[in-house]
Amino acid sequence: MTDCLFCRIIKGEVPAKKVHEDEHTFAFEDINPQAPTHVLIIPKKHVRGLKEAQLEDAELIGRLHLAAAEIARKRGIEDGYRTVLNVGPKSGQSVFHIHVHLIGGRVMKWPPG
Ligand code: AMP
Ligand code: ZN
Repeated sequence: MTDCLFCRIIKGEVPAKKVHEDEHTFAFEDINPQAPTHVLIIPKKHVRGLKEAQLEDAELIGRLHLAAAEIARKRGIEDGYRTVLNVGPKSGQSVFHIHVHLIGGRVMKWPPG
């Protein structure tokens, strides 16, 4: 999608600090980090959000989480991190290309706000 910010980041049209890339996924530093580690993991395929995802996207959604786990392992934050999917405007979803937030490197509060 040409008008999607995250599709443009994947294409290199918008700069981002790349953290990870493979055949299906791409990860980069969040521009407004909420913790020492705040990475966004996105599929190369444009999927609008979790509620729009189809059964055919199941493996891809798993891959996003496994990429997050790998990044967390490499960063040494396995003592506690969070993966978050904001779904819909009331949750705070502001970019409509599905993304997993990997947040860690500090103590997390529960429940999240
Ligand atoms: P959400 O609110 O769940 O849709 O998350 C969108 C995230 O994208 C927010 O945490 C933003 O800080 C982040 N973001 C927005 N624009 C950029 C950008 N150009 N590069 C990196 N992160 C971005
Ligand atoms: Zn997109």
